Amino acid sequence: MEYNPVTLILLLAWLLCGIRVLDKVNASPAKWRRKKEDDGKHGIEWLILFFGPVFLLVTAGKEFWETRLQNVFVRVKRRARYGGITILDSRGSPLYGDDCDNPAVDAFKDIFLEAAKRGASDVFFDPAPEGGTALRFRIDGILVAQEPLVSGLGENVISAVKVAAGMNIAEKRRPQDGAFSAMISGRPVSFRVASAGAAGGEKLTVRLLGAGSAPRTLDEIGFSDDQLRLLKRSVSLSSGMILICGATGSGKTTTLYGLIENIDFSLKNVISIEDPVERVIPGVSQMEVNAAAGITFAGLLRNALRQNPDVICLGEIRDEETAQIAVHAAQTGHLIVSTIHGNDAVDTFDRLTGLGVPLRSLAATVRIIVNQRMARRLCRKCRAPLPELPEKWRAIFAENKIDPSGVCRAVGCPECGGTGFQGRAACFEMLVVDSELREELEQENVSLSKIRQFAQARGASGSLPIHGARLAAEGITSLDEIDRITLSLDGDTI
Ligand SMILES: [Zn+2]
Repeated sequence: MEYNPVTLILLLAWLLCGIRVLDKVNASPAKWRRKKEDDGKHGIEWLILFFGPVFLLVTAGKEFWETRLQNVFVRVKRRARYGGITILDSRGSPLYGDDCDNPAVDAFKDIFLEAAKRGASDVFFDPAPEGGTALRFRIDGILVAQEPLVSGLGENVISAVKVAAGMNIAEKRRPQDGAFSAMISGRPVSFRVASAGAAGGEKLTVRLLGAGSAPRTLDEIGFSDDQLRLLKRSVSLSSGMILICGATGSGKTTTLYGLIENIDFSLKNVISIEDPVERVIPGVSQMEVNAAAGITFAGLLRNALRQNPDVICLGEIRDEETAQIAVHAAQTGHLIVSTIHGNDAVDTFDRLTGLGVPLRSLAATVRIIVNQRMARRLCRKCRAPLPELPEKWRAIFAENKIDPSGVCRAVGCPECGGTGFQGRAACFEMLVVDSELREELEQENVSLSKIRQFAQARGASGSLPIHGARLAAEGITSLDEIDRITLSLDGDTI
């Protein structure tokens, strides 16, 4: 509590009054009876005596009212609205009970409850240059700064997270990994924790798996009806490769999960190899890569092939060995579904040939390449019409006969945390490797630029801005957002 001079004077006045009143009460009964007749004169002292404490609480405890009580109120309101959070340690036992009265644990719970509620995918704790700990959430692929944690509290919260994740709290410099889980509003959420020493202290990155309002089924992702039909048919193929390419955070994993869920597990043996397992799918044998323990994608893939699988889902193809085993498996009666880091369908061919896979083998195995990006959805509460279409977009709207009257821009309101966006919408292009393209790929000395022309002619490369313009015309996302997501991974605009 903070006292200002006025409250000090009031406190003194109240004490004096108290002493005077007590003086009368403690006086002899005879004196008291006599004095009673004068009570009218001392009424003001009685009033001060009773209302003093009330007055003091109202004026003196300004900070008390504004912070502590308000915090309690906000917390109660938040927990009532979103349900509570129970932290479970790496073995799944409840940690930090509800009656735990530790500000660091309270802050820990509040931070992750808020992160899960706002659909954050990551939470970052970094030492702030001005002292204390900076706190940021990644929401819809964008970093959003939160109220920083004051010096002392931040370090304690980091320690509480490390305890939950089964990490060594004394080790603050060497990188460590850990995990914990929590029940949030009755839903299980897993957290992957990584810590490392940083300039000015320790940084902590926490990945939330299974939280948020991300689409969960293939139908919810945002494919057109034709694309959906094609994709659902493709997972019933008995061999070949289905590839999903895009940048980090482009929702590739969501599409991957959506695809696997469309497989009939009663008829097919499905094995998935992931880093990490983000969602448990009943009916699928899910294996997890653990680089520290020497368990790699390639090693698990070789192991999986001995288990007579029909479909192998690979979290990512990023090394030569995995690429080559995967292509070989796809040629020998297995369907491989995987993601790959790349700008577009043609870039995927480039990357796989870079990993030592001949184009001829790709021609024989790759069936479909999905190139996807995630645009943030405009907040429906505050989006506003865009008065004029920017110069560079006019041609795209005119050439593709898209009506620009529905185009909106981001504004920001309390509902969307002032960002102007809420949730995400996917933007796709899809390349189907048919006999015509296969012939092209099998030719001697075929160049990637030729394949690119081919893909562009079919709208499977370079067409994301057009898809984006259609999304923007429906008011789903903004043109700035389409600009942002169609920037290629190398930084050039497509
Ligand atoms: Zn809004």
